[in-house]
Order: sequence, then structure tokens, then C-alpha cells
Amino acid sequence: MEIEKIVENVAFNLLKQAVIYLPEDVKQALKKAYEEETSETGKTQLKAILDNIELAEKYQAPICQDTGTIIFYIKAGSEVKGLEKIENALINATKRATKEVPLRPNAVNPFTQKNSGDNTGRFIPFLNWEIVPGNSLELTVMPKGGGSENVCVTGMLVPGEGINGLKKFVVETVIKAGAKPCPPNILGIAMGGGTDIAIKLAKKALLRPLTEPNPDPEIAKLEKEILEAVNMTGIGPMGLGGKTTVLGVNIEYAYRHPASFPAAVAFNCWAARRASARINADGTVEYLTHKKGV
Ligand code: SF4
Repeated sequence: MEIEKIVENVAFNLLKQAVIYLPEDVKQALKKAYEEETSETGKTQLKAILDNIELAEKYQAPICQDTGTIIFYIKAGSEVKGLEKIENALINATKRATKEVPLRPNAVNPFTQKNSGDNTGRFIPFLNWEIVPGNSLELTVMPKGGGSENVCVTGMLVPGEGINGLKKFVVETVIKAGAKPCPPNILGIAMGGGTDIAIKLAKKALLRPLTEPNPDPEIAKLEKEILEAVNMTGIGPMGLGGKTTVLGVNIEYAYRHPASFPAAVAFNCWAARRASARINADGTVEYLTHKKGV
């Protein structure tokens, strides 16, 4: 089979998996939050979320009506042939998934306000490319919810305030976001680079499973500290109060200019959808995040 068709089929399956089945680490984190939540209202909200997840799997329906804006991450081996055909394959997969899964059409022209009806349009689905050595292709899809997108921010911190300034920025951002991003959330936090680089890294950090702390022990410690701090806000599940506002914090960074301290916070909602697969040179496919749904 041609690479274009293989990629289209795999991307279609990934979209279907992602919107119906939450990744196991997110499901387990929500279950743990339910067991440990002390607020009665918070517990009721988490129970509703867990029931929702179960029903979506049973009826093969999306876990949320907001099936998000479609973002792909592509790790392309430099020896893979036909890379120029991938974009078209991903657009076709998105159109097909919109019709067949189905996904709610969420791509709107900002000038005319017209919905394209198939989740595609200028720069959508958005493609993030990374060229790596080898001859395989790793595809990841993140259907990114609108509510959680609306509160993502990039800020310019005071370099002299360092990490304390970052902590303050994150806590203030979470308080300001309140119930809007459909908590409990996952936070992708990034610092350095530039404003564009920070938000890109923050969003990419949302792909790291909740079971994998940062490999750098100092950053892993900071992730834990920020998690504890934001959960002291009491915003709670769906903003109705409780100790589970955030399920996990993933931090990324780039080096920064001495005079600049860009930082970004990307929110994912409880419907933290992502799915990945690897396409090998011989055309075989390994689904990396999900066992079900293909
Ligand atoms: S932010 Fe997430 S949970 Fe909330 S409506 Fe959108 S996709 Fe659904």
C-alpha cells in the first residue's frame, strides 16, 4: 500500500481512538482523584466524568461533544520516502473522521465566521514536524478542546525573579482560568526560547504521560511543587470546589535570552485526548498509546 493511504488509515484510527478512549494514564489519574477527593461536590463531578468515560467506550461515542481542534505531531525518519504526501493524508483522515466517527466540525474561518464543516481549513489540522534519523514515521494526534485552549497563556516574566516568578505566574494563571478549562486539568508549562517557542513547548509537554515525571530530578521536583500549589486553590473538579484542580504538571524549557524570560502555560481539560502510532518501513503499524479502537 502507498505511504499516503497507510498514513491516512493510521491517522483516522488515531483520531477515532483519541476521541473515544482516554489514555490509560489519564483514566487512572481521574480514578485516583475520585478516590482521594474529599469534597462531596468534587466527588460527584469526578463520578460523572468516570461514568462518561465508561459510556463513551461502551457506545463508541466521543467522550466530549467538543472534539477539539485537530493537531498532529509527526516524527519523520529522514529516510522515509514520500514525506510530501503526508499533509494531504492527514487532511483526508481528518475529513473522514469528521464524517465517520463522527467529530463535531470545529474549524471556523475567523474572517467570514463560516465553519468548513469538516475540521479542516487554513493551517488546520495543524502539523508539527520533527525530522529524526531512521526510516519510520511516528504520528501523534491531539484533539485539543476549546475550553482549555481559551485559557492558555504566554507571559514575559522578570528574569531576576527566576523560578519563583514562574511559580507565581502559573498559580495566578490557574486561579484566573477557574472553571473555564473543564478541570481537573493537565498543565504543560514551558519557559525560555521566545513567546512562540514557549507556547509550542508547553503544548507539546501535554503529550507526556502523567506516569512519567521529568527525567531531570530538579524539574521533576518543580513539577511536584507546582502541582501541590495549584491544587491548594480549591477550584476543584469542573470548578465546583475540591482538592483536584490539576492532575499533573509537565515542564519543558529552552535556553533564554539574558534579558527575556518568556513562559507559557498550556491547559488540557480532563478529556486529555492523545493517540500515537509508529509506521515502520515495511508498512507495519504499532499503536503506541491505545490497545483498543482499531
Ligand atoms: S474543554 Fe475539554 S472537556 Fe471542556 S468542552 Fe472542551 S473538550 Fe470538552
